Amino acid sequence: MIDGQHEKLVSKEVFLKVNNIRAAANKYGVAHQKEIAQIPLKVFMHCPHCGEGYTGYVVKAKNLWYYKCRTKGCCANKNASKVNAQFLEFLSQYEIKEEYMSLLIDELLDSTEKINEANKQQQQEVNKSMLDVQKKIDVIEEKFFVEGVMSQETYEKLLAKYAKEKTEIAGLSRENFSGSSNLDEIITEAVTFSSKLALAWSSSDVKQKEQIQKLLFPDGVSYDMKNEAFRTTKVNLLLSLNAELAGFSEDDINKQGGMKATLSNSVGTTRFELATPCTPCKCATGLRYVPKPEN
Ligand SMILES: [Zn+2]
Repeated sequence: MIDGQHEKLVSKEVFLKVNNIRAAANKYGVAHQKEIAQIPLKVFMHCPHCGEGYTGYVVKAKNLWYYKCRTKGCCANKNASKVNAQFLEFLSQYEIKEEYMSLLIDELLDSTEKINEANKQQQQEVNKSMLDVQKKIDVIEEKFFVEGVMSQETYEKLLAKYAKEKTEIAGLSRENFSGSSNLDEIITEAVTFSSKLALAWSSSDVKQKEQIQKLLFPDGVSYDMKNEAFRTTKVNLLLSLNAELAGFSEDDINKQGGMKATLSNSVGTTRFELATPCTPCKCATGLRYVPKPEN
């Protein structure tokens, strides 16, 4: 920490206090409750009747944990270890079968190659626009510094305008994206990870469990306590592909061409973006599913 040059707006004590509160809060600015190992699905899993995230509580006498809906009228609660076991089963439905792994890896690599090609084109356009702006800057510099036919005011005004344009163009640059040389590795890891989702989840600590859940089901899952059924609206691309593969019949599997075409179609209509791999498992976070726009 370094003292600034200008007059302090708040005392060091207040600054530190606020800073500590901010550090303890999550990205929504709400203080984050401590994770509890017995109820990893808390908040992430929600009530289908009222939409609220389930909370949890413990019956200390028996040391038993429960999930519950806090909404008046829902009156829902259920033994947490039972629900966790059911979630594990739910996860295993999305696991990719070993025999499809290489097919899926090939397909993903094919499609990322296409994406990289498109990025290259976009980058070329960005470079051209950047050069155009630089030329404009050269012209005003020539007029102001060399020929002396432009006022300082005009020069500065134009320079600011072009600088802004440059920043905007730089924002369109895709260099960071296409420069990923370990894409093969990421895809292989992601597919491998998706072949053992249940194991990965059950063997992780609660923080990692939360990361995995969020990655696989970005909108969370709903759980009907009465019917003991999970439901989700949005799944990670890999999971949707796995589900699709799981739907193939023995016949389809024998007809590799048919299966590949369907898979290729699914991947082809999807956009990927590279995200930072999550630290604990370095898993499928390398690929993030970007859903197509609604219209
Ligand atoms: Zn409810």
